[in-house]
Amino acid sequence: IVEKEMYTFEDRNGDSLSLRPEGTAGCVRACIQNGLLNQSTQKLWYAGPMFRHERPQKGRYRQFYQLGVEVFGLSGPDIDAELIILTARLWQRLGLAQDVRLELNTLGTSEARCAYREVLVDYFTAHQDQLDEDSQRRLHSNPLRILDSKNPEMQDLIEAAPRLQDHLDSESAEHFTRLRELLEAVGIEYRVNPRLVRGLDYYAKTVFEWVTDKLGAQGTVCAGGRFDGLVEQLGGKPTPAMGFALGMERLVALLDAQPFDETPYRPHAYLLLAGAQAEIAGLQLAEQLREALPTLRLQLHCGGGSIKSQMKKADRSGANYAMILGEEELAGQTVTVKDLRGDAPQQQLAQHELGAFLTRELALA
Ligand code: ATP
Ligand code: MG
Repeated sequence: IVEKEMYTFEDRNGDSLSLRPEGTAGCVRACIQNGLLNQSTQKLWYAGPMFRHERPQKGRYRQFYQLGVEVFGLSGPDIDAELIILTARLWQRLGLAQDVRLELNTLGTSEARCAYREVLVDYFTAHQDQLDEDSQRRLHSNPLRILDSKNPEMQDLIEAAPRLQDHLDSESAEHFTRLRELLEAVGIEYRVNPRLVRGLDYYAKTVFEWVTDKLGAQGTVCAGGRFDGLVEQLGGKPTPAMGFALGMERLVALLDAQPFDETPYRPHAYLLLAGAQAEIAGLQLAEQLREALPTLRLQLHCGGGSIKSQMKKADRSGANYAMILGEEELAGQTVTVKDLRGDAPQQQLAQHELGAFLTRELALA
């Protein structure tokens, strides 16, 4: 099924093992074996490590992580649009909307593609002397993939190749038109890229990729498409399916380049402890506060040291308040509270007032 860079090796018993290169085939197999496709549609997701024996470089690893989403039992362009819109919203939430753009294509039904495949094989066979080694190999195994070649010397040849668009069946053409309408209706921008073919040969109709210019040659962050034939191919009853996988490392690389606002991760309050007795009482107080105020980010000082050095750490933590628990406070069941960000005077609060004080001052939910 997969023409991926299979990570295959012999184990100690001489058994040949292959590490999974992607999640879709395994997801389909799990659905078939567990009877998930019998009555209802299924919307599933997975995440985990995948393995490919490729040349490691930035954004391309032999072990990497994918997050995948697959929908089974829906054949219309509405679910194609829905999944693409879902990914668009994800980029928006992550602040990456400006970094990625959508490329779209249709591969036609498998029948249309078979016919086109022959046209393509004829064309490339006639120009066999211009094919690089990879493409020679793909000429008969997966000729569509030649269109995907990144070899600059082959670009003219590929540019002049017959186009799938001209060999498309009407069903796929209508599906594609409707998908485009739906995306346009919600303002999702895209570019139709006739050379977008995807590496796996079980795709049909819709294929899409979210690409970026920010990661060099490893520009595809998320890729997906329709794979209506795969369930049947793996022994299930014919079931339309659509999904995508996104590469976590590439996503993280994009996020890394973003300015990062750490405010929402800083502690609200830093609890300083003076003396061995304060350690136990402080731990108890911290736990009471955490129990009572689940949204409070409280950092308890660990590691001892003078109040002066603890105060330095409190300041460096970015906390809004330093709360000091020393012998005097212990005796009086109070806490000394110092505003680290403003210039409100230091104050002593009864320990039982502390929760209400923090809730009010920090506007805790
Ligand atoms: P590419 O064209 O970059 O080789 P692919 O077509 O092989 O990608 P898919 O099989 O569609 O990739 O996998 C989905 C996503 O997983 C890719 O878009 C990419 O973000 C990520 N990915 C694929 N291979 C790797 C890898 N070796 N290292 C890190 N991420 C990867
Ligand atoms: Mg690849």
